[in-house]
Amino acid sequence: MSKERLLTGLQPSGALTIGNYIGGVKRLLKYQDEYDTFLFVPDMHAITVTQDPALLHKRIKELVAIYLAVGIDPKKVHLYIQSENLYHANLSWILECHSYFGEMSRMHQFKEKSKNHENFTCGLFTYPALMAADILLYDAKYVPTGADQKQHVELARNIADRFNSRYGKEYFVKPEPVIPEVGARIRDLQDPSKKMSKSTDNPKASVFMTDDEKSIRKKFASAVTDSDGKICFDEENKPGVSNLLTLYSVFTGLKIDEVVAKFQGSGYGDLKNEVANVVIDTMKPIQDKYKYYLESTEIDEALDEGREFTNKIAKEKYEIIRNVVGLGRN
Ligand code: ATP
Ligand code: MG
Repeated sequence: MSKERLLTGLQPSGALTIGNYIGGVKRLLKYQDEYDTFLFVPDMHAITVTQDPALLHKRIKELVAIYLAVGIDPKKVHLYIQSENLYHANLSWILECHSYFGEMSRMHQFKEKSKNHENFTCGLFTYPALMAADILLYDAKYVPTGADQKQHVELARNIADRFNSRYGKEYFVKPEPVIPEVGARIRDLQDPSKKMSKSTDNPKASVFMTDDEKSIRKKFASAVTDSDGKICFDEENKPGVSNLLTLYSVFTGLKIDEVVAKFQGSGYGDLKNEVANVVIDTMKPIQDKYKYYLESTEIDEALDEGREFTNKIAKEKYEIIRNVVGLGRN
């Protein structure tokens, strides 16, 4: 039986954190075996807000190097860059012309991201149509998303439905959002009331997958905890300590109870030090491979292959849709 299609991507909006590793990247390894996986770098989404062009190029490459370093196999996964496939933008335009200002205006992410800015781009507003195109071009059935993107997948479903019923045939497959079971949420090391994020302003707040040993140790050493000195798991009253226990648990595979038992009688300093050790032990081999891939031709080979493959599929779909809506000569 052929595998079902799944599509996913991570924005190249910053170096990846260990939170992204646990909550996003690691899961891809499961998907690549279970699904016909389309993994793309949504670089066109990234420019909905201002980007430094040289930095964006760099981050795209680094993101792909991380994928390869954690074990994404380009023989199993279609790995490609969104902007290297012109059909995404072309289909996006057609979909924009089949979606309504009212429904776009209801997108939480747009409201959130435009709130504190006087000048936001039209791209930020129409982004969900491009995301719908990313998905519908490939008849992707499953789209794993964080809760913040679920509404966009629902919009893609609505657009697909509307299109199919207007033109009288199932031209688009209706995608289903997959909300992964809630795993550990890693917290910001300086403000444990927030989650750790790649687009943070405070470099001490996030541990990045590519941080060297010294900075990882330093960041954990200065992680904010509390003053009662007891090691126990209480996310509400002791978010900093609980975050360290969670990290130790996910990086070793031990249960939280086991971790708490292990550190009974230890001080926060020991806990921080041990957490740094297990994070470094896990990241070191990934970092070695990452450095290798950054210098190798394998990134380009994988992306070229992904581009050829996905362009072929996208072209077929786009030509059908273009014709159905009456564009060009038939
Ligand atoms: P940004 O600040 O740009 O939103 P981010 O770090 O929040 O960056 P996302 O691109 O929003 O990252 O999410 C990428 C993936 O990483 C998602 O699968 C998300 O669930 C996961 N993820 C992000 N932050 C964490 C975290 N702190 N703990 C666990 N998983 C996380
Ligand atoms: Mg986020």
